[in-house]
Amino acid sequence: DPYVADDARYDSMQYRRSGRSGLRLPAISLGLWHNFGGLHALDTQREILLAAFDMGIAHYDLANNYGPPPGSAEENFGGFLARDLMPYRDEIIISTKAGYYMHPGPYGEWGSRKYLLSSLDASLRRMGLDYVDVFYHHRPDPDTPIEESMMALDQAVRSGKALYAGVSNYGPEATREAAAILEDLGTPMLIHQFKYSMYERTPEEGLLDALDDAGVGSIVFSPLAQGMLSDKYLSGVPEGSRVTHSQFLSEKQLTETYLERTRALNEIALGRGQTLAQLALQWVLRRGRVTSALVGASSVAQLEANVAALSFPDLTDQEIEAIDAHAVH
Ligand code: NDP
Repeated sequence: DPYVADDARYDSMQYRRSGRSGLRLPAISLGLWHNFGGLHALDTQREILLAAFDMGIAHYDLANNYGPPPGSAEENFGGFLARDLMPYRDEIIISTKAGYYMHPGPYGEWGSRKYLLSSLDASLRRMGLDYVDVFYHHRPDPDTPIEESMMALDQAVRSGKALYAGVSNYGPEATREAAAILEDLGTPMLIHQFKYSMYERTPEEGLLDALDDAGVGSIVFSPLAQGMLSDKYLSGVPEGSRVTHSQFLSEKQLTETYLERTRALNEIALGRGQTLAQLALQWVLRRGRVTSALVGASSVAQLEANVAALSFPDLTDQEIEAIDAHAVH
């Protein structure tokens, strides 16, 4: 059946300004790192993507290498755009990235102008797009001058193949430097994408301050620690869960210490009448410290539950302290 978007799609989602830019992003964004490649059912992928759009989550986060196999998430996503979402292109933010390993040879990863710009062209072809909204350098490159990588982002924007530029996984110092270079080039850094959750606090050691100072927005990946900040692993490993199929999450991480901490956090969530996943999302979004929480989802039900996090009362100072007492060691 032809897809028709829900008329109520903008009624409940919050939109937050990305740094000092003109762009607002949904408080919850959807990432296609897992669950959208060649190994997952296309019907489920389509259901999740369309449900996201119907809930106002009109920001889809991809990268050249998402799959597996690498490139398949962009290809599949291009199929759903062509079939369902292209009439709504002007209502959608599509992000992609280059930086990690994509293909053999010296131009298949890292941060050269050669790699970044050829990769963006390949991403556009796979998705059947003229432009993406955000193009990121996916990780810092210790060997390429940062000026070269930033000039490639600037070129991507000037050529009309991307509307905005971002970086991901850059540390505080490299972020300040990159933001200054982009500012000089006339293509301000829109956003930084980094890992942040109750269990991953590194951004509090300088990165969040660097972003505030530079007026750059922030989108945090793995806010649920890939599912570990939910109740799903508290009584065993559910069939089909990420631990069972991802090379990035293993049963070894579900230690006794992990279980203890997670049970305590789960109690705090239950005390608020919500799930741990919902608490974890409210926590990263607390006090407007970040622009958007970038979640993954293997079902529509998960996505709906995650969006419902936005309708609970804000965390109190006491609750935030209690969370710190359990989450930080
Ligand atoms: P999350 O921490 O949100 O983990 C998503 C996983 O958590 C889901 O696949 C699901 O696991 C589980 N989950 C989601 N919602 C619920 C729920 N309500 N209850 C229980 N379990 C739930 O984020 P990701 O690690 O997936 O990262 C999100 C996105 O961030 C990626 O898709 C990608 O776009 C981006 N990213 C960027 C990186 C970078 O270097 N820039 C690196 C990593 C990610 P299950 O499959 O077991 O059901």
